[in-house]
Amino acid sequence: MTAQTTRAYWERSLAQLQPEGRLFIDGAYQPSGNGATFSRPRPMDGQEGAAIARGTSVDIDKAVKAARRAFDSGVWRHMEPAERKAIMLRWAALVREHAEELALLETLDVGKPILASLNVDVRLCADGIQYYAEMIDKLYDEIAPTGPKARALVRKVPLGVIGAITPWNYPLIIDAWKLGPAIAAGNSVVLKPAEQSSLSALRLAALAHEAGLPAGVLNVVTGYGEETGKPLALHMDVDMIAFTGSTEVGKLIMGYAAQSNIKRVALELGGKSPIVVFEDADLDAAASAAAWGCFYNAGETCHASTRLIVQRSVQDALLDKIEAVTRREIALAHPLEPAAQIGALIEESHMQKVLGMIDDGVGSGGRRVFGAERTLSETGGYYISPGVIADVTNDMPIARNEIFGPVLVAIPFDSEDEALSIANDTVYGLAGAVFTRDMERAHRMSEGIHAGTVWVNTYDMANFATPFGGFKQSGSGRDRSVHAIDKYCDYKTIWQQFG
Ligand code: NAD
Repeated sequence: MTAQTTRAYWERSLAQLQPEGRLFIDGAYQPSGNGATFSRPRPMDGQEGAAIARGTSVDIDKAVKAARRAFDSGVWRHMEPAERKAIMLRWAALVREHAEELALLETLDVGKPILASLNVDVRLCADGIQYYAEMIDKLYDEIAPTGPKARALVRKVPLGVIGAITPWNYPLIIDAWKLGPAIAAGNSVVLKPAEQSSLSALRLAALAHEAGLPAGVLNVVTGYGEETGKPLALHMDVDMIAFTGSTEVGKLIMGYAAQSNIKRVALELGGKSPIVVFEDADLDAAASAAAWGCFYNAGETCHASTRLIVQRSVQDALLDKIEAVTRREIALAHPLEPAAQIGALIEESHMQKVLGMIDDGVGSGGRRVFGAERTLSETGGYYISPGVIADVTNDMPIARNEIFGPVLVAIPFDSEDEALSIANDTVYGLAGAVFTRDMERAHRMSEGIHAGTVWVNTYDMANFATPFGGFKQSGSGRDRSVHAIDKYCDYKTIWQQFG
């Protein structure tokens, strides 16, 4: 038994933790311009959390100026590629060295299980930074075809100052998805983490600096969306906003870009992803995928498998298996409990919203198969047990709106056409899955489901080589993979005439 497998170990580590709540601008921690701070109850137990600097447009402006200075000076983008790569690799190594501390900060903010923070979130954050670090000295520009008297270089150049606005559900992972390619491409960044999850971003920036990233290349301004995210997105000297969050705020971001300097916008937004199970499928595999796909991270996952579209003939058998997998494998517990597979929801208001959606689903004809109830309230934290609501039709609000909690809805179907039409009857298009042993049908369905990722006989499998993002109102642009670099670059043609 290692130390990490006892709750007492994590309680002791938490007691020693001293979270940093100041802004990180131009290579140093500093208070917000007006000295204001805010705090919020911890999801795990409702106790008061750390004090965080409450940034304003003044701080955003200061951070953008620092980012612009760093960009214009060329201190980062003109550094030898091998040297830039070494710095980013050191950054990834420092993230791994400080894994336990970062995991605690993440669990403190988000309420996710400590071993998930450690083994998934921190690990993928380091892997993401490393993936883009390794690309830095392998990117080539192009020479366009021309006549013999000219040479046209097609250079891929960094955009300049990137504003990154991120959500609270996977802060370290999503920060790495944005910072990795943006910084590897030579840009400077001002990161605005969600007000619910500032701690890991602040530490991540300090580690980047410790690794040798020059001052001003990565700045973090914490605060509320209206007070910091909005001025960042409206700023005239920001070249692009890379946003992950709700579709509602994504629409505002597009508006801010239009109202200001037509900056580029990349949006990773919400989802309501279908998992379609045919009667010939391996029902054990489908049950496991549906349960883990929906309940992991307490359902606070943009691409969660929230709509189970199941062939009527196997619905009861599949629901029994999903219940069995959930009870056997997906332990809900206090996040510092190493056995916890899922923990708390992000905040009380969100928990109440999820409970309201469950009530509405049951009130409009849905049947609670198991779970989907408030639990562990004696801890003071915000917990809902994973559960399934069946007998749902796709027009019910519980089938149409993002729940962002551990609630799976089951919608029966009779034919393949009907299954595809239900799967695509959503404003979202982030992800989807099909379970069948008929490979022709798997092919038809995976081509037919209109989503950025479609899994066949699995769910949520990915690596850094696969692009991630959505169709329709799930957004535009892709995180991960070599293609994410393009998002943070522009093409520049240099035409040289000879003779
Ligand atoms: P949110 O849209 O409320 O907030 C996201 C970020 O935007 C936060 O940093 C917030 O402070 C900021 N913000 C809020 N109002 C703003 C404004 N007026 N101007 C500028 N910035 C503003 O989302 P959330 O609740 O933090 O996260 C959950 C949402 O994120 C869900 O909809 C989920 O599906 C989505 N999400 C999508 C992906 C993806 O890759 N597609 C990944 C994770 C989460």
